[in-house]
Amino acid sequence: MAKEEMTGAPPAHILIFPVPLQGHVNSMLNLAEVLCQSSLHVTILLSDYTHNRLLRHASLHSRFSRYAGFRVATISDGLPDDHPRSGQRILDIVLSLKKVGGPQFRHLMESTEALSYGGAWRRVSCLIMDGVLSFAIPVVEEMGIPFIYFRTVSACSFWAYFCVQEMIDAGEIPLKGKDEDKLEYWKKEEMDLMVTSVPGMENILRRRDIPSFCRVEDINDPGLQSIKTETRRSTNATALILNTFEDLEGPALDQIRKHIPNLYSIGPLHSHLKALLESKGVESSHYSSSFWKEDDSCIAWLDSQPANSVVYVSFGSVTMLTRDELLEFWYGLVNSGKSFLWVVRPDSITGNDDGNGNEIPVELEEGTKSRGLMVEWVPQQVVLGHPSVGAFFTHSGWNSTLECIVIGLPMLCWPYFADQTTNSRFVSEVWKIGLDMKDTCDRILIEKMVRDVMEVRRDEFLVRARSLATSAKESISEGGSSHFNLNRLIKFLKSTVL
Ligand code: UDP
Repeated sequence: MAKEEMTGAPPAHILIFPVPLQGHVNSMLNLAEVLCQSSLHVTILLSDYTHNRLLRHASLHSRFSRYAGFRVATISDGLPDDHPRSGQRILDIVLSLKKVGGPQFRHLMESTEALSYGGAWRRVSCLIMDGVLSFAIPVVEEMGIPFIYFRTVSACSFWAYFCVQEMIDAGEIPLKGKDEDKLEYWKKEEMDLMVTSVPGMENILRRRDIPSFCRVEDINDPGLQSIKTETRRSTNATALILNTFEDLEGPALDQIRKHIPNLYSIGPLHSHLKALLESKGVESSHYSSSFWKEDDSCIAWLDSQPANSVVYVSFGSVTMLTRDELLEFWYGLVNSGKSFLWVVRPDSITGNDDGNGNEIPVELEEGTKSRGLMVEWVPQQVVLGHPSVGAFFTHSGWNSTLECIVIGLPMLCWPYFADQTTNSRFVSEVWKIGLDMKDTCDRILIEKMVRDVMEVRRDEFLVRARSLATSAKESISEGGSSHFNLNRLIKFLKSTVL
């Protein structure tokens, strides 16, 4: 029996602090809800900007109104409201938070108002934070509060980040030899070399597959240095949480455990939460935490399509496309002869320097009508689970990858940056559930690869994808590894109450 149940004392109070980006917030809110279901008190710390977006477009409060122990606290990310907060410029969010976050975080931790429940201040008993927000650490250390890192990326990319120093020592980073060609920014001969210094991945990763922040000419690159230091710092945390499961990423998890023994692999978290709610007879209908308004009209459109006939295309919440890339994708999709549902976020197209050309060309919108649907944002999990969807054309963000693995559909990957370049390699070479078109964007190749995942090699990918979907389900069921690890985590968190 937990301490609070025996004594009547309030439960442990967990502060969850994600990087304020869609993918991170989605995973952390899922964890927050799992913890609320386990009668813990949870405060989630968001940027004002993100909180306002959630209030505008999502039913955050209706999702959490049933939990008396759930609170939202906010700080400023230090950026002006009109900052794009997308594409490569998302790094500005982390860099700005590093500058302005420390004092605000200290103020929050000492604030009687922000952290009070039912009028009484509640000491935070454990901090669960994204791994790149280390400015919070001195504050919790001074206060004697344990902290746990929750990295929302795959174990394989976390492990590659962990080995940045080894790659530098082996001369594998920095990359040498830029190419003139825009898409093949680095020379093909160099990018295709195998990486030998990431233990356990010697026969898997080429240089083009390591996380894109390692694609630098200078080892003093601030992005590379920051990711290297922050990832190594994970060894100082009480524990590390990863949103993955043993049957999917066992080898990478084993490598990480050699350095961080207290590792909780608890994914896929979104289906873990769903199963938990269902087991308690709680309604688990789709609650949005989207930063954009979801366009539900796509579901009626999907209803009108034959089974397995539609390619669902989405490059997530951060990717920016040039106008040329948009056209290559469009022609590739149309020429494949398959129907498609394509998410094109508002402001996700980079136009010309004069500010023109950042709209979807009218002829594309018109031409799409006979073939498919372009929408600004969808309820992705509902779409992926729709019987008409036959494959996912994705940027290989980790949440999207997991959401697709749970459904058991083949993927076509066009990684944009960060961990996505590693995830897409694992999709094609390790899990063998799809194809990786990294570093290319060509309509002829797209047309071919769409046909491959939808028809030519579909059965081969489906067998593996369905088997992984079964493993994912088993991992979150009683006796499964993620189920066991989550219970272990909750037990630890309950023990942190003073
Ligand atoms: N998503 C969504 N609707 C969309 C596109 C994406 O709800 O139209 C969600 C998706 O389900 C996932 C998240 O946005 O949970 C994107 O996270 P991911 O890690 O895949 O990529 P990121 O956006 O961080 O690059």
